[in-house]
Amino acid sequence: YSFGFEEVDEGARQSRVNDVFARVAKNYDLMNDLMSGGMHRLWKDDMIAQLNPPRSEAPFALLDVAGGTGDIAERFLKASGPNATAIICDISAEMLEAGRERHAGLDRVEFVQGNAEALPYEDGRFDAYTIAFGMRNVTHIDRALQEAFRVLKPGGRFLCLEFSAVEVPMLDTLYDLFSFKAIPALGQAVAGDSASYRYLVESIRKFPSQEPYAGMIRDAGFEQVRYRNLTGGIAAIHSGWRI
Ligand code: SAM
Repeated sequence: YSFGFEEVDEGARQSRVNDVFARVAKNYDLMNDLMSGGMHRLWKDDMIAQLNPPRSEAPFALLDVAGGTGDIAERFLKASGPNATAIICDISAEMLEAGRERHAGLDRVEFVQGNAEALPYEDGRFDAYTIAFGMRNVTHIDRALQEAFRVLKPGGRFLCLEFSAVEVPMLDTLYDLFSFKAIPALGQAVAGDSASYRYLVESIRKFPSQEPYAGMIRDAGFEQVRYRNLTGGIAAIHSGWRI
């Protein structure tokens, strides 16, 4: 099932990732619901509950990296006070465009094209940094984590929602069958594109599991790094603080 991502050099990897998201952008929201049976919605709710942004009038600035069509920013604005703002930063013009269309009525949100590995922001600008199902797409996770640390204020919060390693026996076998057979087939049926969806499955397999990833977050300088498994480890939320 190799999509050939291992054989290409680093620059080419990101451009293939960009091709994938350019192709899936139009069907992205629908496919998310179909592939996860709607579970991604609960996981995202969970991440925002964990962030627990202030409901007061205090200003609170969120940077949602790899924010795509804006699921996280939308939930964040609903859960926070009147002076909260969100920036959705994504490398894909097509995903941002799909997000702008979907959220035409939403204010206090900005869509910005940018790379997680070189964020177009000054040091210490944000109260919180979130990334949902984005970290596995970047070429250098360590660089993206360093950037997250850099743009956060001291006292700022880091939260990452990502597919992870299933830690429940039997569920792992079922999950493998579902991912390698059903997801590319769904991609073919709904979007006429199985290769892009094979990439998504492969990128999940290659992403570091819970503990090693927590170690990488600590290496970037974050403190009180923890993670919580969701649905048996199909996904996990990692968190940390810039002290
Ligand atoms: N956060 C959204 C969500 O949870 O629905 C979108 C997740 S989508 C699976 C992954 C996103 O990562 C895509 O929109 C893609 O364009 C973006 N992406 C990939 N590489 C990136 C990079 N280096 N910097 C910023 N965004 C990137």
